[in-house]
Amino acid sequence: MVPVASKLSSKLKSWVKIDDSFTTDGDVVLCQACNNQIGCSMISQLEQHVRSALHAKNKGLQTSKKQVLLSQMQQSSNVRSEFFHDMCNAMVAANIPWYKLQVPKYRAFLEKYCGRQIPNDSTLRKNYRHLCYDEAMTYVRSDIGNNYIWIAVDETTDGKGRYVTNLVIGKLDGKESPTPFLNSSKTLEHENHATVARFVNDGLKVFKKIKYLSFIVMLRRTC
Ligand SMILES: [Zn+2]
Repeated sequence: MVPVASKLSSKLKSWVKIDDSFTTDGDVVLCQACNNQIGCSMISQLEQHVRSALHAKNKGLQTSKKQVLLSQMQQSSNVRSEFFHDMCNAMVAANIPWYKLQVPKYRAFLEKYCGRQIPNDSTLRKNYRHLCYDEAMTYVRSDIGNNYIWIAVDETTDGKGRYVTNLVIGKLDGKESPTPFLNSSKTLEHENHATVARFVNDGLKVFKKIKYLSFIVMLRRTC
């Protein structure tokens, strides 16, 4: 007897052929034009999506994008967009996860009022995340300067039961409330003195260019 899951998987692979924007991993259907997952247990749901105004609009955007000459595409791939870069920084500052750009209504809002093509979250991750990180770390390094620093390491468990460890640092310059910076955050497979020590060492490597780095460790254990 064929399992229900594999039955649906083969159906999805057949159904996605109705539109070249659709792809599937066998579990869900993704519309590449809308950059959106479509709940799908019947082919009529995909047909309904194809008929929607939003899909038609996004297909139009996708088609016009494909019509760009190859030379222009090569050129544009080498030039980073200031708009995308600023969008990265703005979303990070506002604590808006980049995957929210997959929300069709949010994308439509941005496209309507910015009058620009809105990047996919994967584009931001691939091409702009390291720029934002470098800028943030440059700022942290310049703020700390040659001061002594304090560090705090804390771990928490996320909703999936993973050990998430955070390294927070700040400068000791005599002020009562120095700005703390989240230096690094990592999921550790096991949490013990060795893995935490390695995590702290790795996190502090970004300060290797500071000549007079010294630090005082403050440990806090909440469990
Ligand atoms: Zn679509």
